[in-house]
Amino acid sequence: MSLPQVFLRAGRDASLRRRHPWVFTGAVAELRGRAAPGDTVAVHCAKGELLGLGAWSPASQIRVRMWSFEAGEHIDEDFFLRRVMHAVSQRLADPWLQDTNARRLVNGESDGLPGVIADQYDNVVVMQLLSAGAERWRDALIAALRASVACEVFLERSDSDVRAKEGLAPRVVMVAGELPAPLLIREGPVRYEVDCQEGHKTGFYLDQRDNRALMDQLAGEARVLNCFAYTGGFGVRALAAGAQSVVQLDASAPALACAQRQLEHNALAAQRVEHVCANAFGWLREARQQRRRFDVVILDPPKFVAGAAQLRRGTRGYKDINLQALDLIAPGGWLLTFSCSGQVEPRLFQKIVADAALDAGRELSIVRWLHQSGDHPVTAAFPEGLYLKGLLCRVN
Ligand code: SAH
Repeated sequence: MSLPQVFLRAGRDASLRRRHPWVFTGAVAELRGRAAPGDTVAVHCAKGELLGLGAWSPASQIRVRMWSFEAGEHIDEDFFLRRVMHAVSQRLADPWLQDTNARRLVNGESDGLPGVIADQYDNVVVMQLLSAGAERWRDALIAALRASVACEVFLERSDSDVRAKEGLAPRVVMVAGELPAPLLIREGPVRYEVDCQEGHKTGFYLDQRDNRALMDQLAGEARVLNCFAYTGGFGVRALAAGAQSVVQLDASAPALACAQRQLEHNALAAQRVEHVCANAFGWLREARQQRRRFDVVILDPPKFVAGAAQLRRGTRGYKDINLQALDLIAPGGWLLTFSCSGQVEPRLFQKIVADAALDAGRELSIVRWLHQSGDHPVTAAFPEGLYLKGLLCRVN
């Protein structure tokens, strides 16, 4: 049976020819045939040339997400097995992922699987389906993951807000096995407790792994402020690296309770740590008035910019926390500052931080550009995949 056919408007085929995986509603001229949400459609340019195969999503502004640009490809169970196995085998061979048992196995668009996320935490795989196409192939994706990784516990955590844009209801369900309590992972020299059911994302910020590891070089003997600490990731690594003291600051009490438990999991002394449940904007100002000083400050806030309309306000938010934090850093100290807002491009972020330094009257050298870890790759055709950016700065 032939597939339903999507025809693009004239002149709207350039991004697909560059293998960008999204077709927006405005580019679609016509659907010939009938397609239910998630059904595979053949996408043609206005002149009729076949450009590839994708998943139809009638509720979404992204009307088609491409599965393949290869002529003659069949989108079936075997296709998903090949794609998942390829993604997993790349992680297993990744030289930067050898000292951990927690990693992103499948990173959506960047692994040729739009809307599919799978993270491994030791013996547990947490899967997230975020698009109509991913939902349509749910059984095939579960089978492919089970065939590709030697894990016994599978949780589906399809509860992200973005599902609503695809017309999908949330779903959280144990697919196989039972979650250990607590679930502990290993990352370099440190053990972390991860809450896959209630925690952010699939439970942990795996994307910050390489940046947490910088604590090994920076945190020895240092006074460290971990601002927006969540479950304490950077701070625990800093303590393990010999930090003199660590402040773990977050607005979430449950996240800080978990940060506290991380100390026991790592046999770390509690007297070196202060857990502060507060709004960072206010706390940083108070610390400034009290003339507190730190040698290393980490700023890893939540996404301040979720859409173009929030860009100005978000930019002000980033500038404000950076300005406040800079005043707390002892001369010769370090600032690790991040933005996970996709809308804030690296150059803009650098400008925001530079403006903050100017206002704070501090001299700032960018020593390294920081990004998400390599298990969150960015395929060249999908630059939107680069969302986490950061700067490691020496502050004088
Ligand atoms: N650095 C962490 C991840 C941080 S996620 C890691 O590596 O694991 C962002 C955190 O910011 C969340 O834990 C959230 O609770 C916290 N947060 C959000 N708004 C805040 C605010 N205004 N003040 C303090 N914390 C805030």
